[in-house]
Amino acid sequence: MIPPSARVAVYDAPNAPFELREYPLRPPSDGEVLVRNTMSTICRSDIHSWQGHRPNPCPGVLGHEIVGRIAALGAGIDQDMRGAPLAVGDRITWSEYFIPGPNYCSEVLDLPQKSPGADKYGHMAAATPPHHHGGFGEYCYILPQSWILRLPEDLSDAEAAPINCGVATMIAVTEAAEIRIGQTVVIQGLGLLGLYGAAIAKARGAGLVIGVDGVAERRERSARFGVDLALDPTNVEPAELANRIAARCQPLGADVVVEVCGDPGVITSGIAMLRVGGRYLLGGVVNPGAMVTLDANQLLRKMLTLRGVHNYHPRHLVEALDFVVAQRWRYPFSELVDGIYPLERVGAAMADAAARRVLRAAIVP
Ligand SMILES: [Zn+2]
Repeated sequence: MIPPSARVAVYDAPNAPFELREYPLRPPSDGEVLVRNTMSTICRSDIHSWQGHRPNPCPGVLGHEIVGRIAALGAGIDQDMRGAPLAVGDRITWSEYFIPGPNYCSEVLDLPQKSPGADKYGHMAAATPPHHHGGFGEYCYILPQSWILRLPEDLSDAEAAPINCGVATMIAVTEAAEIRIGQTVVIQGLGLLGLYGAAIAKARGAGLVIGVDGVAERRERSARFGVDLALDPTNVEPAELANRIAARCQPLGADVVVEVCGDPGVITSGIAMLRVGGRYLLGGVVNPGAMVTLDANQLLRKMLTLRGVHNYHPRHLVEALDFVVAQRWRYPFSELVDGIYPLERVGAAMADAAARRVLRAAIVP
């Protein structure tokens, strides 16, 4: 039974408090799935949206790292993207974005995430029907042209929630980095993306993973996620840090450096760590205005590759789930979700997440 209405946590303007509002529910239309949200983790981009650092329509509904159980299936949808049957009660994850239909980006460029008119869960105004399209609410409509995966029952919500954003993004970043067996990977930033990135780099065959982060607690935690050596960049000249890291990456420097800290200030020192022919990946500088000055001659002489990765292809969602299922015995993914909040406390959860008092806050409606 679908109730006539359900609650959504809404904010009216950047930094405004969250209020619970009722919006009507209807049976899912053709190609839609109605989900009862069981957990939505707070991504750094939710915080950026709420703080007004990126344009997000208001009154806003946030939350895109969502896990839930199917409450109702619309006509024409009865299996997930791998062909597994879907039924009411199944627990699922789905792509953080959906596209308006096949288009040049999806069909020719194979970059569906950049489709014109693509939109994301937790990025639309609450006034936009069907109103329930974010994680910070009791229900979410999965709209047509999304990609859905059924979850194994033994996977916890905490392990599953970050799969459709943080994990899938790092699958995309590390794929673009073309990490080969035995190679050295440096990760700038040991937040959630950096930790998944380290674990995935190891799974792709990296021989040595070096992490750089100014927070001691993060450096300590990173050892449990595949980081072999964690360095503190605080009070170290960027050139000196680059030299120290290059010295650990014999003979010529790091094969791959990945930026996932969101600070454009680290890019030049990251490039200096690379060997001839190395690859630099941008995964964290998602906000506009990330200006940087660099010596382009270094790119040319060292024959470097510089690549940006934004969101992910649907195949990365499949790989993200398979990675977490296969590696959850090796890495304590569930401990990354370290704060649980009911829907009534979205404001407190956002404040704790923004102040980095928790690594990954989770809303359990
Ligand atoms: Zn996210």
